[in-house]
Amino acid sequence: MRPAIASILALLLVHAASAEEPKKWFKGNTHTHSLWSDGNDFPEMITDWYKKKGYDFLAISDHNVLQAKEVWMAVPAVEKRRKALGKPTMEKYLARFGNEWVTTRDKDGVTEVRLKKLEEYRPLLEEPGKFLIVQAEEVSAGIGKQPIHLGAVNLREEIKPIKDLANAQEVMRANFKMVNEQSERLGIPMFTHLNHPNFRWALKAEDMAGVLEENFWEIYNGHPGINYLGDETRVGHEKLWDIANTLRITQFKAPPLYGVGTDDSHHYHGEESSPGRGWVMVHATKLDANEIVKAIKAGDFYASSGVVLEDVGFTDGALRLRIKAEPGVTYKTVIRGTLEGFDATTREQKSPEGDPNPTRLLYTDDVGKTLATLEGTEVTWKPTGKELYFRATVVSSKPHPNPSFKDQTEMAWVQPMGWKK
Ligand SMILES: [Zn+2]
Ligand SMILES: [Zn+2]
Repeated sequence: MRPAIASILALLLVHAASAEEPKKWFKGNTHTHSLWSDGNDFPEMITDWYKKKGYDFLAISDHNVLQAKEVWMAVPAVEKRRKALGKPTMEKYLARFGNEWVTTRDKDGVTEVRLKKLEEYRPLLEEPGKFLIVQAEEVSAGIGKQPIHLGAVNLREEIKPIKDLANAQEVMRANFKMVNEQSERLGIPMFTHLNHPNFRWALKAEDMAGVLEENFWEIYNGHPGINYLGDETRVGHEKLWDIANTLRITQFKAPPLYGVGTDDSHHYHGEESSPGRGWVMVHATKLDANEIVKAIKAGDFYASSGVVLEDVGFTDGALRLRIKAEPGVTYKTVIRGTLEGFDATTREQKSPEGDPNPTRLLYTDDVGKTLATLEGTEVTWKPTGKELYFRATVVSSKPHPNPSFKDQTEMAWVQPMGWKK
C-alpha cells in the first residue's frame, strides 16, 4: 500500500472510532448541602460518602454560595447541626482525614475549623475517569416566604439570587437568565433545574410551564418535606410534570421539561434528610463536567430512585427499555402522555389556608393520561402518533431502602418523547 493511502486510511479509521465513541452510564447527584450552607457535614466527608457508594459524580449545591472563600466555623456550631446521636462530627472528620488535613484555630477561647474550599479538596477526592466533582449552587430566591430555588450546575461564578419581583414566574425567569448569561459569557455548558416546586406549595404547574428559560426540574427530590405526592387538593410531582409538559407543547410551542432525580440531602449522621435517595444516570462519552452537562441538555439521561435501566431509547418507531432485573422484584412500566384533542377544560379550586397560591387549576385525567401499563424487564411500546408527548415511569415492587414518602418503592423516570414532530 502506498504510504499516502495508508495514512489516509489510518486517518479515516481514527475518525470513525471517535465518531462512534462508546457512551457509558454515569451516576450522579446534583443537589446536596454541606456546612457551607445548612448541611451538617464537611464537604470532603460528603464527597467521600458518595464516592464510596459508587457514584461517578457529585455536585454539592449550597444555598447562594460557592465553596471558594475563607470561612471559619466554631466547632460547637458544627456539632449543633447534628441532630442524631453518635460520634461528634469533628471526631469523624479527624478520623477520616487526619490532623494534617483539618485546619483549626483558637478564637477567644473557642476552637474554630476552616471549611476547605472546593479547589483545595478536589485533588484529594477526584480521580480522572473514576470520580468527578462538579461545582454547583442552589440559587435560593423567592417571594416573601415562597421559596423559589434553582440548582445551577457547572457554575463558575457565585450567583446572588434576585428575589421579590412581581410574581413567581418573574423571579424564576430572572434567576434562570443569570445562569444562562454566565454560561454564554464564559462559553461553558451549564444546566439549571427548578427545585422542589411543591416545597411550601410555592409553585404551580403553570409557573413551571410558562418560564421558557427553564428546561429541567426535579421529578424526584429525596427531601421528605417536598410534597412529592401532593395532597387532597394539590397535585403531586407526576401530574405536575404532565400538566407543565402539556401546557408547554400546546400553549407555548416549547419543548417539555426534562426531569432530574436528586437527594437535596442536608443530614449525614442518620437523620431524615439523608443522602442516597435519588440521582441521575447520564449517558455520556466520558466523565467530564462539560460532557455530562451536554449529555443532560441533549436529554440523554434518566432519573432514578433505585431502578437501573440497562438501555433506554426510541428506535424503529418504538420506545424500548431494558430494566436491570433483581431477584424477586417485579417491574411495572407506566406510559403516560397527552393525546391530540384532549379535554383541556379546567376547574378552579380554592387552596387550603396558608397556600401562597389562593387558587389552583384542576385538569382532567386526559392530561398525562395512562396510555399503557407494561410488566416485565423488556419493554417495547409503540406510540400511535396522536401523542403530544409521552413518557415512561418504571415502578419496582422493591421498597425504597430509605424512603422519603409513605410506601415508596424504587422507580426510574424516562424523559418525555414523541414531541419533536
Ligand atoms: Zn431548595
Ligand atoms: Zn436544597
